[in-house]
Amino acid sequence: VVRVRYAPSPTGTLHIGGARTALFNFLFARHHGGRLILRVEDTDQSRQVPDSEAQMMRGLQSLGIEWDEGPDRGGDFGPYRQSERLARHQELANRLLAEDKAYRCYCTPEELEAERKARQKEGLPPRYSGRCRFLTPDEIRQREGQPYVVRLKVPDTGETVVEDLIRGTVRFDNRVLDDFIIMKRDYTPVYNFAVVADDHDMAMTHVIRGEEHLSNTPKQLLVYQALGFQPPQFAHLPMILAPDRSKLSKRHGATSVEEYRDQGILPEALANYLLLLGWSDPNGREFLTLKEAARLFTLDRVQHTAAIYDQKKLEWMNHQYLMQLPLERVVEAVRPFITYALDNGPPLSDAVALSRERSATLVQLAESMRFLYEAPRTFEAKAVAKQFTAGVDELLEAIRDRLLTVTPWDHDHLMNAYDQLAEARQVKRAVLIHPTRLAVTGRSVGPGLFELLTLLGRDETVKRLQFAAD
Ligand code: GLU
Repeated sequence: VVRVRYAPSPTGTLHIGGARTALFNFLFARHHGGRLILRVEDTDQSRQVPDSEAQMMRGLQSLGIEWDEGPDRGGDFGPYRQSERLARHQELANRLLAEDKAYRCYCTPEELEAERKARQKEGLPPRYSGRCRFLTPDEIRQREGQPYVVRLKVPDTGETVVEDLIRGTVRFDNRVLDDFIIMKRDYTPVYNFAVVADDHDMAMTHVIRGEEHLSNTPKQLLVYQALGFQPPQFAHLPMILAPDRSKLSKRHGATSVEEYRDQGILPEALANYLLLLGWSDPNGREFLTLKEAARLFTLDRVQHTAAIYDQKKLEWMNHQYLMQLPLERVVEAVRPFITYALDNGPPLSDAVALSRERSATLVQLAESMRFLYEAPRTFEAKAVAKQFTAGVDELLEAIRDRLLTVTPWDHDHLMNAYDQLAEARQVKRAVLIHPTRLAVTGRSVGPGLFELLTLLGRDETVKRLQFAAD
């Protein structure tokens, strides 16, 4: 049975790269009827951010990513916080020491620094010389009681080969690796050691993660070898880059799931967009629910080249979702973004139905509905210069008078009234429509005038026309 994991370090919020990794693991697990495990890699206590774990979980849940085992729900392979597995990490490190596959290194930071500098002078890459590997029993006895780290004995010939399910065969020359540290001075494991212990103990069948970890994989394979464990299969997902192919960062817009939420991106749209960051549907479709995606998701549809993040496309996709999701869903999603009172105005669902076509984000949608609940306080300056010209007061009053007699107050009767008034005044309908729109909404663009007046109601419309005319 397939077992995969998402293994975030609780050092901040859920970022788009992490969310994509979690999503692909989730879809892979679902596709194969397997299980997704959430493991919190909290061994580096100094880098931890309080509440990060809970925040990440909320972020994943908001996207529709569900895990089967994890710190919040337990499972047969717990504990699911790495720090709680320390005893096991220490046991395995002790075993490697006893089997002479690892050794204690007493080199001080100063000694290591001197060594690094000497190598640098000779133009050699930084690499631990392996000095402590060859300490005699006597020398070891002399150092007893001194602080030490544990290093793995890495062969200095041959190569370590990663058979990656996405990237194919990737070879690493063992000479570029040194006897790397597996246990720190405080006898806690480094990432490359803990991850192997946990992935093995949690019976992972596949490790699917970002490409930035590919260079860790040969080290991890060497740890598997030393421990005599069967490694899982590896799949490294392509990087996510900015449109200019630079590393994605703050200046490219939002990068965390919370920021997207705050910008008014629907989680449905974000999940769908993340899916396209490296994966494509065999039938070329771009809009898929996670359920559909799970049915279709295979690693051979994951691209090898970097995925390019495009905020414009995300917003376009969000716009499509705003238009196509059930109205009630959009109403519920937009509520938190509304900063005005809803008591004096149409039912929110009518307002959303009127406005959702014209908004890319929930923030924009909320703003675009404001005029239905609050009279505009400001008027678009450019439009004012164009529309509120000499004689506009008289025009707005004429419109107001005509509107007082429209019954019933609905789209078609409003349209008729405007047509009749335009004819009586020998002007085009647009000459009446634009100033009306500006007077009642404060803006030059928006939903169809008769639709919006219908929702706004006669009293409010008349009041606003009067105000603008005065
Ligand atoms: N905690 C690691 C990270 O957040 C996990 C890497 C892995 O999946 O092995 O990058």
